[in-house]
Amino acid sequence: MLKGKSAIVTGSTSGIGKGVAEALAAAGANVMLNGFGDAAEIERQRAALATSAKVEVAYHPADMSKPADIRDMVASAQKKLGGVDILVNNAGIQFVAPVEQFPDDKWDAIIAINLSSAFHAAKAALPGMRARKWGRIINIASTHGLVASAEKSAYVSAKHGIIGLTKTIGLETAGSGITCVAICPGWVLTPLVQKQIDARAASEKLSPQAARMALLGEKQPSKEFTTPEQIGETVLFLCSPAAEQITGSAIALDGGWLAQ
Ligand code: NAD
Repeated sequence: MLKGKSAIVTGSTSGIGKGVAEALAAAGANVMLNGFGDAAEIERQRAALATSAKVEVAYHPADMSKPADIRDMVASAQKKLGGVDILVNNAGIQFVAPVEQFPDDKWDAIIAINLSSAFHAAKAALPGMRARKWGRIINIASTHGLVASAEKSAYVSAKHGIIGLTKTIGLETAGSGITCVAICPGWVLTPLVQKQIDARAASEKLSPQAARMALLGEKQPSKEFTTPEQIGETVLFLCSPAAEQITGSAIALDGGWLAQ
């Protein structure tokens, strides 16, 4: 379906981004990976995906808190893969503390990585999408883009912000062949969430399984995790002709979290 298209997935060395990159490659898109991790492991992941999907797979080490790195990543994808047709803004971090104790540097990092990076990447990728009259900008937001939880001030602010950015880009590109959509997952069992499960197990003296169920039971009525594969398939749907009129909006994969 996506043969001949090229994609960047930020934060694709782990979790949701990895699942999205694998889905895009399996559908025939050339992919640029990005994210932190062990260099040899990232190279192994890059080579394995290129071999299994039979597409071009590149890697760029851009730090998403640095606008110049982001511009260089987009330019590099244009050079190595021939363009950026699909941009998935996924890289993100979390930090949990009440506002009075929230470290200033954590606030700045979360706003930079979870929100501003999407602005800088979209700004750099849009001219090429406009020239080709086709593009998909898919922002991995969160249920926390639409509702809040205590002790997540920076994360909730960044995720609400990225939904605003999604609406604005949706309006500015309407009718141009480009769409911009936010995906709002509920809980997905990735390293980002495992840290919160471990913290809960320690503070409430729970087994790992009991801490997982406590986390799910509090917010996600299905009591099942959303998976990176399901998010990957949703990205493929948003790249399909059926989704041409879906723009400026937010799609939740949240097991009922937002229905409450
Ligand atoms: P993860 O920790 O498994 O992966 C995060 C990825 O981002 C990694 O590849 C990491 O290297 C990369 N990254 C972090 N900081 C970076 C930086 N400065 N520059 C470049 N890359 C950086 O987390 P995940 O759960 O897969 O989260 C991915 C996205 O999904 C995030 O935006 C997160 O907010 C969102 N999300 C996650 C959940 C969940 O339950 N896991 C739910 C809703 C939304």
